[in-house]
Amino acid sequence: VLQLKGLQKAFGALVVTDKVDLDLHRGECHALIGPNGAGKSTLIHQISGLLQPDAGKIAFEGRDVTGQKQHERAVAGLGRSFQITSILPEFTVLENVALAAQMRAGSSMRFFRRADREAALNEAAMTALARIGLGPRAATMAGELSYGEKRMLELAIAIAGQPHALLLDEPMAGMGRAESEGLTDTLLELKAHYPMLLIEHDMEAVFRLADRVSVLVAGAIVATGTPDEVRADPKARAAYLGEDHTE
Ligand code: ATP
Ligand code: MG
Repeated sequence: VLQLKGLQKAFGALVVTDKVDLDLHRGECHALIGPNGAGKSTLIHQISGLLQPDAGKIAFEGRDVTGQKQHERAVAGLGRSFQITSILPEFTVLENVALAAQMRAGSSMRFFRRADREAALNEAAMTALARIGLGPRAATMAGELSYGEKRMLELAIAIAGQPHALLLDEPMAGMGRAESEGLTDTLLELKAHYPMLLIEHDMEAVFRLADRVSVLVAGAIVATGTPDEVRADPKARAAYLGEDHTE
């Protein structure tokens, strides 16, 4: 579904993405691991269109999306979540998700009557919330959710509007063991619906979820393989075991 070719990005003299080739296949979870500051988030920002690469190409479902803006890629079917939560605390959980569904729908609903449009968006939002297990919290103000629930809302926002692929930036960050295990179960279910590129420091979750793992160090991919292959690769192990865990 997704292919990166020779992606290159620098902030001044600091190369944060160094000739990255990476692909995401249908039905798979591809995990991206690596130490803090390796350039994982920056890579996802370039895929979602938040940042433009200096060079290289990004193809999504066979189309070159490299020059496209963020909202164009969202409409094309790239859903994402953020490392730092991006929810609107003064709106209800349902409104947060419906708003995301509306952005993804783009102009495709412009001929709908207002009430029909709202009903369709609310229904799409409820479907996303139910899939994440947040249905009972739909009417709660987003700002009143627990931290773990906010992270789950972030995920519901990413799947609102039925994306064709998910980019997840550390969905477990800051969660306790029980919460991250619950989230891993949810992601295992989501994997059946959405191919996902997953950035995660929680190795237990990575090894349960990922079909393939790539290790990013200083902007470059140093290893790609199945979880077992990466676990057995001393170079890859050094990269992720030696890392500084901040969560
Ligand atoms: P973490 O695991 O801590 O989230 P990461 O792998 O996601 O790390 P990035 O956030 O992609 O790392 O950052 C890669 C490098 O780019 C870091 O050295 C960071 O300080 C730098 N960087 C990120 N954004 C910018 C920016 N807008 N301007 C300059 N440098 C930046
Ligand atoms: Mg990051």
